[in-house]
Amino acid sequence: MDMECSALVGKAYYEIKLDDIAEWWILGGQCACCSHKGPFDRARLERRAQIRFLRFASDFLRCTRCGNKHHNRIYIAGKLPR
Ligand SMILES: [Zn+2]
Repeated sequence: MDMECSALVGKAYYEIKLDDIAEWWILGGQCACCSHKGPFDRARLERRAQIRFLRFASDFLRCTRCGNKHHNRIYIAGKLPR
């Protein structure tokens, strides 16, 4: 189940911070260059991202298909079992 962050949070994408998305949601990244999508290690991103807005935090994502690191978009890739 892929979902737009804005559909979950009820804000525009540019307004959303990591803290707006509960920890049980699995995050994924979609590449701005080749559209490749895949889940990523949220805990690792949480440690690295000083700026909590998704649109800045995504600078730490690197596409595993084409290597692009810019303007990748974070989406909801799933939910951890509770
Ligand atoms: Zn790519």
